Amino acid sequence: MLRALFVGLSENKTLRRFAERSAVGRRVSGRFVAGTEIADAVRATQSVNRSGMSVSIDNLGENVSNPEEAQQSARLYQQILDAIVANHLNANVSLKLTHMGLDVDKEMAREIVSGLVVRAAAMQPRGFVRVDMEGSPYTQLTLDFVHELHRVPGHQECVGAVIQAYLKRSESDVEKLLSEGIRIRLCKGAYKEPASIAFERKDEVDANYIRLMKILMKSETYHGLATHDENIIREAQAFATSEKIARDAFEFQMLYGIRRDLQQRLVRDGWRMRVYIPFGTEWYPYFMRRLGERPANALFVARNMLRW
Ligand code: FAD
Repeated sequence: MLRALFVGLSENKTLRRFAERSAVGRRVSGRFVAGTEIADAVRATQSVNRSGMSVSIDNLGENVSNPEEAQQSARLYQQILDAIVANHLNANVSLKLTHMGLDVDKEMAREIVSGLVVRAAAMQPRGFVRVDMEGSPYTQLTLDFVHELHRVPGHQECVGAVIQAYLKRSESDVEKLLSEGIRIRLCKGAYKEPASIAFERKDEVDANYIRLMKILMKSETYHGLATHDENIIREAQAFATSEKIARDAFEFQMLYGIRRDLQQRLVRDGWRMRVYIPFGTEWYPYFMRRLGERPANALFVARNMLRW
């Protein structure tokens, strides 16, 4: 229920306008967001890289409403790719198609993302663009985009998809992506979806996650297991050991600011870890979804607000 409440709040435009403009809002969001500028993301990435982890940089934003905003997002992502090269960062980028103008003009969004993948493919070492997965109205469109981008000669290894374990359709989507060797990030899913298309109970989502995770781990492609769930991480480790899957054949992924202890422990034990680092002025929907995932986060934020 709490999760549904925060996902609902994440879509409230008035609250969003107020929060993103207020100084307190920006300070509170610092728990999960690296800052507002590319330089902030670079600093956070350098620090995470120093502790032996790779990074995926995400410029926060979704559902832009005009072509100028989409082109602005595109320029920012080109600058992030430049910053990765200039600062020798061990990082790739994650983006949302609605941030690249999918709702405004599909063709434009396609050109923008294609331009970013071309740039990533030309980087030394080669870069990578992860297309985040949004709510279910975008699932098929997003997967079609990734399939199409991946088919372009020279783009293999440079673009990947995200699969949400709470969706009932995901096993069939996984099969199609794997048949073309497309890299997948597996997550549980962060949006509010109807019971007709999504598992509702945590045990069902977890069971589907583990089933899909084993399929990914047995495939020949390099995938990301995005979760902070210790039970699932233990299952993955046990499966890797019993199936003799090398520790560098896949990676764990976690969000910036969440379970740093677990991130460091995994790296110490020789597992690969990538941290997803979001930055930007449009942090509100992302932040609200994170609060909804754990009641303690809302309490933490409320306590800090009282202190200021
Ligand atoms: P949960 O069952 O939610 O949590 C397990 C445990 O992890 C909790 O008990 C708690 O200890 C810890 N934990 C989880 N969340 C938090 C939190 N916010 N604060 C503190 N502790 C927490 N979702 C999408 O829909 N599309 C995407 O493209 C996408 N990309 C992602 C990329 C990465 C790298 C990660 C890690 C997640 C991504 N997600 C995405 C979000 C994901 O779908 C989940 O909503 C989120 O990761 C919480 O699920 P969980 O697997 O950690 O398990």
